[in-house]
Amino acid sequence: MNSRARTLARRTPALRLLLLDVDGVLTDGKIYLGPGGFELKSFHVHDGLGIKLLQEAGIAVGFISNRKSPLVALRARELGVKIVQTGVANKVAAYEKLKRKLRLEDREVGYVGDDLPDLDLLKKVGLPFTVRGCPPELSRVALYASRRRGGEGAVREIAELILRELSEPRLSRRKKRRT
Ligand SMILES: [Mg+2]
Repeated sequence: MNSRARTLARRTPALRLLLLDVDGVLTDGKIYLGPGGFELKSFHVHDGLGIKLLQEAGIAVGFISNRKSPLVALRARELGVKIVQTGVANKVAAYEKLKRKLRLEDREVGYVGDDLPDLDLLKKVGLPFTVRGCPPELSRVALYASRRRGGEGAVREIAELILRELSEPRLSRRKKRRT
């Protein structure tokens, strides 16, 4: 186990809230624009189930996006995601406010981001994640980069990693073996 995996294993039990960037994490980053500002994005059903499984395990999930889009609220409603912040100019400021409101600490929060505007928030949270194809600045900070790309099941992969860590913590397994 490398040091990032060890840190991830050590910090995961404290996780209470996983925040997800939308474009490039829950989607492939493409935005289909039509006349009059008509907009389409595509979400992956596998991510949807991953989000449901996290919620069932007692971990809240939230969406946070710089762009304002009614599609994000629509997808959130489908998945029972109640924390939805769109049109956010400064993600760190929005996060600090949310953290105070929910009485959470940095160590209890995870974030998945795919691009440079996510970097500062990734540096704050206890569990920073990124996705395949992200800029190197992000992979330097993240504890885990998904093998799958955004919109292609990256969130499902990260959800499964978290759930695996909660159900069979690798650190305690190691400890048990030693005794
Ligand atoms: Mg993004």
